[in-house]
Parts: sequence; C-alpha cells; structure tokens
Amino acid sequence: ATPLSITVATGKGAANGILIRSAQALETAHKLNTVVLDKTGTITRGTPALTDILPATGFDADELLALIAAAERDSEHPLAKAIVVAAEDRGLSNARARSFESITGQGVRAQVGDRIVLVGNARLLTAAGIDTSSLSAAVERLAVDGKTPMLAAVDGRPAGLVGVADTIKDGSIEAIAGLAARGIDVVMMTGDNRTTAAAIARQVGIHRLVAEVMPEQKAREVRRLQAQGRVVGMVGDGINDAPALAQADVGSAIGTGTDVAIEASDITLISGNLSGLVTAIDLSRATMRNIR
Ligand code: ADP
Ligand code: MG
Repeated sequence: ATPLSITVATGKGAANGILIRSAQALETAHKLNTVVLDKTGTITRGTPALTDILPATGFDADELLALIAAAERDSEHPLAKAIVVAAEDRGLSNARARSFESITGQGVRAQVGDRIVLVGNARLLTAAGIDTSSLSAAVERLAVDGKTPMLAAVDGRPAGLVGVADTIKDGSIEAIAGLAARGIDVVMMTGDNRTTAAAIARQVGIHRLVAEVMPEQKAREVRRLQAQGRVVGMVGDGINDAPALAQADVGSAIGTGTDVAIEASDITLISGNLSGLVTAIDLSRATMRNIR
C-alpha cells in the first residue's frame, strides 16, 4: 500500500477507536482466515461476579468465603477480585494471608492464619495430591451454566467450591457473526474449564474451542494454526495472552486490557469491543483494494 493510503486508513481507524500500530498489520489484516479470541476480558466483560458458594461438609458458606478471600486478596486475577468483592459485600473479616503464591493459569496457594488454603481449578488441587471427586458433580453443574467453578482446599482437604459468572460484552455476538460472514474461522481459546467455555461459545455462536490451555500453550496453539497455512489473528487482554498476540499474524489487544498485551500487539481496540477488529479488517480490505 502507498504511504498515503496507509495514513488515511490509520486515521479512519483512530477516528473509530482502533489504533493501528504498524503498516504491516494493515497490509495483513485482509488476509486473515482464522481469528483466535481469548474468552475472559475479550468476549466477556472480564468482571465476573460471585454467584454460588457451595461449602463441603464441615464448613459454612461465610467461613469458606472469608478463607478464600484472604487467600485471593493479593491476586491480580479478575476471578480473585470477584471473590474479594463478594466477601466485602457480606461484611466478612478482611484477614490477610501470611504468605501467598500465584500459580498462573491455575489459582493461588496461601497461608491464612495457620491453615494452608488452595483456590483454583481442579488441576491445582490434583497437582497437590488432593482428591477432588467429592466436588466434581458440583463443578459440572456450575460449568454447564457457563459459570467458572473454583475449587477450594484447606489443609489438604476439599473445602467446597464457588462459582463466578461473567457477562458477554455488548457487540461480541455481532462481531463474531461479522467475522464468520467474511469467511473467517473463529476459535475461542481459554484457560477456563471446558464445559464453562463451551457454554459461552454456544451463546456467542463460536463452534471451535480450545479450552483448559495453560498460558504458555496459547502461543503454541497460534503457531499450530499457522503451520496449517492459516493466516491468524488473535485478540486478547491478559498478560497470559501476550506471547500469542506477538505470534499471531495480526495481534489485537483490548484497550482496557493489560499493558503487556497492548505492547505485544499490532492493533489496540480502544473501545474494548470486538467490533473494532471487523472494522480494521474492512479498512485493510479497502486499503489494499485501492492500490491494486
Ligand atoms: P483465561 O484464559 O480465561 O484468561 P487464565 O489462564 O487466567 O484464564 O486462568 C485459567 C483458569 O485458572 C481459570 O479459569 C481458573 O479456573 C484458574 N485460576 C487462575 N487464576 C486464579 C485465581 N487467582 N483464583 C482462582 N482460580 C484461578
Ligand atoms: Mg483474558
């Protein structure tokens, strides 16, 4: 494309809340035939709220919530925020953990008083040698509703689980339909539970799903699609999305997302809305058509 056509398209993008950071991105976007979308914070708002507290026998709901809130207090994860806010709303003690460790893509491990508290997915508890079978029916029940189940263990024993639900962003369904209408395959990629992710995918009209991926696998998944000859766009918001955004032929970050994701990408969707990607693809098509 000519420098002038690039400047014009970049200006139109900016006027629509789409910051295109490289001419290369504008020249490639019209060739995309596959777009990978992160779920939490990209398709959904990423501000999940607590919906369910299901304590195991021997615990009551407030006690369980207070313990896991103490464990999650220092976590940056949106799921952690949902737990902490719910505990505050119920006026539960805001005890702090004595030590805290975040296990990316799995959860947290903390010492609260003299107890060791784990909060996260089944993989986190299983890796600690904890049998989660007593919780699995409840996990499944939450997940089929599209809620993210978080399991808790205290001193090596299952203590119950909580569910959080996120809401789909305005514009996600229309943007996904818009991508499909342009002949682009849309894939949802998430670290979340497979059943939960499938429920959300169904709600937004996505048929291809890669769930329960560890953060470092996201970039590998993009590379695998590229190895099939696909030209791959990726949209994400989290630190865990940054390598995949950099790997993609065109990486787009949600403007309200983390700085790391924004720096790793070619396009910033300032409005935080996926429709910006469709606009960017159309700008790219128009730009490349003009110069041929
Ligand atoms: P996503 O790809 O949807 O942004 P992540 O890779 O951040 O998800 O996390 C994957 C899964 O790990 C979450 O769905 C959750 O089950 C678990 N997890 C991650 N961080 C936490 C946390 N702080 N507390 C509880 N669970 C967590
Ligand atoms: Mg995310």
